[in-house]
Amino acid sequence: MYLTIGKLFEQTVSKFPNKEAIVDCSRNIRFTFEQWNEEVNKLANALLSLGVRKGDRISTYLFNSYELGTVYFAAAKIGAIINPINFRLKAEEVSYILLDAAPKVVLFEQALEESVTKIHKRFPSISFIHIDESVPSYASSFQNIIKNSPSNHPDIFVEENDTYAIMYTSGTTGRPKGVMHRHRDMIEQSLICINALSITSKDVGLVTAPMFHCAELHCSFLPRVHAGATNVIIHHFDAKRVLKTIEAEGVTMLFAAPTMWNMLLQEDIGQYKLSSLEVGLYGAAPMAPALVKACKQSLGIELVQAYGMTEMGPAIAFLDRDEQLSKAGSAGRACFNHEIRIVKPSEEGPSDPDNILPVGEVGEIIVKGPCMMIGYFNKEEETEKAMYKGWYHSGDLGYLDEDGYLFVADRVDDMIISGGENVYPREVEDALYEHEGILDVAVLGEPDELWGERVIAVMVKKNETVTAEQLDQFLKSSNKLAPYKRPKRYVFVSELPRNASGKIQKFLLRKSLSQNKVK
Ligand code: ATP
Repeated sequence: MYLTIGKLFEQTVSKFPNKEAIVDCSRNIRFTFEQWNEEVNKLANALLSLGVRKGDRISTYLFNSYELGTVYFAAAKIGAIINPINFRLKAEEVSYILLDAAPKVVLFEQALEESVTKIHKRFPSISFIHIDESVPSYASSFQNIIKNSPSNHPDIFVEENDTYAIMYTSGTTGRPKGVMHRHRDMIEQSLICINALSITSKDVGLVTAPMFHCAELHCSFLPRVHAGATNVIIHHFDAKRVLKTIEAEGVTMLFAAPTMWNMLLQEDIGQYKLSSLEVGLYGAAPMAPALVKACKQSLGIELVQAYGMTEMGPAIAFLDRDEQLSKAGSAGRACFNHEIRIVKPSEEGPSDPDNILPVGEVGEIIVKGPCMMIGYFNKEEETEKAMYKGWYHSGDLGYLDEDGYLFVADRVDDMIISGGENVYPREVEDALYEHEGILDVAVLGEPDELWGERVIAVMVKKNETVTAEQLDQFLKSSNKLAPYKRPKRYVFVSELPRNASGKIQKFLLRKSLSQNKVK
């Protein structure tokens, strides 16, 4: 079979040659599919003349941009493997990934030049390509290499089982691991997302979440290209910019992590005309039902939730628009062709996929589906453990209800055991989000002589008047939590540490708490 990301791109181009395909707001670029295809071909041919061959890696260290979107398809057409690197990573972290992925080429930009300048000498065999105007001496200019490059379709045989991407996990559970996906995995994921979000060529999608992360790239950007929709790119998330762009470009859909939706809600929404917006996707981290409700009320849009992980492509379950209230708190049902099981977590080694728990009981979420990774790059042992007996072991805890809806409780490592009772931080976080004075919250366990661990809530206030006593009283009177689940300590901070995909970095909070940096 020869259906590849490159072939699908060509199909869209031939169906919608004159339709607006890509708009880069920071660079003032607007291309139709036909014009964009020419740029993609020029870059593909330029990469070939730099010596990039099928199977070689191309790393990108870029904010969201038209160039990043272009290299995704140029690489696909020549069978090269994309390796998007998180723009928040610093020199040493980037260096770790470059050593592991061993790319032929790295594309980077001025805003991130400092880190690359510190490390480029360690990688003499890599060609560095700079996408801005003032190019450092060790790099070539993106514009120069594509200027005289031919715009014909490169004649390289690529097939669906070829590796398309190596995406590094954010490392919330250790050193980042390179997740390998094939063309066919991504095509399958694209079709699932087109279906779940009802994407058509009439849609205008806003790209504001990081394009290096699979949530934006595989659930929004790629499916929209395949459906012939328009992608409007913002360099990085900025709430005011997002709202202005929705109004200016008639945006119909966007993906945002829960923390981004929260930031949008803090703006003066009434100032903007947002009537074009039809659907919003959230995921990558839990979102409190109170926040989902607030989005519907203030922004007037329907939300869809995706739950998943890089290793699965990422989406494995969706909670649809009309299920947000009736199944509040759920991550939805398994995607087409996916199977989800809840199994008894194992103390040693991976959980046994046949140790299935009854409906309603919390255990480890394991999953099978057509978009599952091939494995981790250079990490056979970790791959074997993660894909034990053909099931991807997510390390998340959750349960299925009687209708087959998945409820994600927490990461196995984040569960708190207080006096022998299990406390799932997410349940406590959701209850605290119901209080109108709370902007952001992370619940975790800290050592306690009597109880083993005790529950502690670290929070960002929305207004200065909220006190710990008021919050405790609120939880008591809302009657949603058993007494042992109520925090024994409330800590107020100005900001919670989050990674680029919006996940709270609880390991950093734990470190700060243990060093008394947060009191
Ligand atoms: P690492 O594997 O190194 O920890 P990571 O956490 O960044 O990296 P991702 O693939 O980015 O890996 O995130 C997957 C995790 O994100 C899931 O296992 C789950 O814990 C969380 N997650 C994703 N979507 C949701 C959701 N809708 N609700 C709750 N949690 C979610």
